[in-house]
Amino acid sequence: MEGSHALDLASAPVDNDDRCMVPGCEEQSGIRCNYIDWRGRACRTSWCFAHWKLVRGKPYCRRHATVIEGLDGEHAVGGLPDLTNRAASLAAWMGRELEAPVRALLQNAGPEGSRVISEPLRPALAPGAGRRWQRAWTLADDSGVLNRVSVEVEEHDDSEVVVRVDGSVIGQGIPPWIQGGTGSEEERRDFREAIAHSIEQVISGREFVRVL
Ligand SMILES: [Zn+2]
Ligand SMILES: [Zn+2]
Repeated sequence: MEGSHALDLASAPVDNDDRCMVPGCEEQSGIRCNYIDWRGRACRTSWCFAHWKLVRGKPYCRRHATVIEGLDGEHAVGGLPDLTNRAASLAAWMGRELEAPVRALLQNAGPEGSRVISEPLRPALAPGAGRRWQRAWTLADDSGVLNRVSVEVEEHDDSEVVVRVDGSVIGQGIPPWIQGGTGSEEERRDFREAIAHSIEQVISGREFVRVL
């Protein structure tokens, strides 16, 4: 998060006809989400000051705020992810949820002198299937990479999260709220903990073989 939370009003499209899109919100004026995807298509949603999310000084809807946050200042090769595709926001969200537990379990598993490096949201080409979006963590020491954990979502199947350890798929699943769940905090926590547990099982049962 940047030091300044000041809203960059000069570049924010203010339109008093834009109502906040949160059901039941009584705020009359909203600001358009600033997101423009790689095709130049702009997000048409609008939100009031209580319901937009500010990232790097600009307001976004929740989905696109998650994408911009996940990129962490990096430019996505080929432009910002498709406006309506969920892959990037789901990978970014999953990465944010797993940041603390994966960092902790890698740190605990790592030999003395090793460190955990967290990679921002990045696109990768999925052969024959367009792009996929991933967040990754590597455990490394001075001689190289010891382990690598990644969460990935493919654009052509933007509801499934794939988890890899050292390149091998160790789990995949559709978050319960995408399957029609309630989206409650408890449901999210259970999903996050199930994934973190699978990663831990694999990491703790494994010799530190070099993968790169
Ligand atoms: Zn509102
Ligand atoms: Zn948006």
